[in-house]
Amino acid sequence: MRIDGKHTCIDCSREFEWMSLVAQPMNAARYKVATIDKPQARVVEKREGTYFINIFCPQCNRLNSFEHEE
Ligand SMILES: [Zn+2]
Repeated sequence: MRIDGKHTCIDCSREFEWMSLVAQPMNAARYKVATIDKPQARVVEKREGTYFINIFCPQCNRLNSFEHEE
């Protein structure tokens, strides 16, 4: 499955969309799902409906870590 959302960079304040494929091996999902049209985030951990997300800002490359509710 796919999760997505918007996040504002903690460094340059640029708002950008992100997405991530979850609950499947990343290397399998990459070929199965044709709709990878946003910067891909990494799910570090999932705990009780909350995803802990890491993504590099597409503008300044700063690592952003935030939580995303399911
Ligand atoms: Zn940034």
